[in-house]
Amino acid sequence: MKFKGPAINKDLCNGCGACIKACCKKVYELIKGKAEVKDAEDCCGTGEKCLPACPTGAISFPEKKTGKTECSCSCGSGSGCC
Ligand code: SF4
Repeated sequence: MKFKGPAINKDLCNGCGACIKACCKKVYELIKGKAEVKDAEDCCGTGEKCLPACPTGAISFPEKKTGKTECSCSCGSGSGCC
């Protein structure tokens, strides 16, 4: 089954954009002031960067991604280096 990426609780999301800044794979985008999953394909599936970045606990990973199990990127540049 295709990995759907993280789940976002819209009731908790305050639209701060921290997940967008934290994720170098550009998984998230803001639509109408709430985070949405733009592209789950490149998501590392671990939440290593986005989970601690989210101040409200709106992000969760109900489904695990097979294959890569950790995001090794620490650049924070958003360059898609990993
Ligand atoms: S970091 Fe959390 S609260 Fe902020 S936009 Fe992303 S999901 Fe919403």
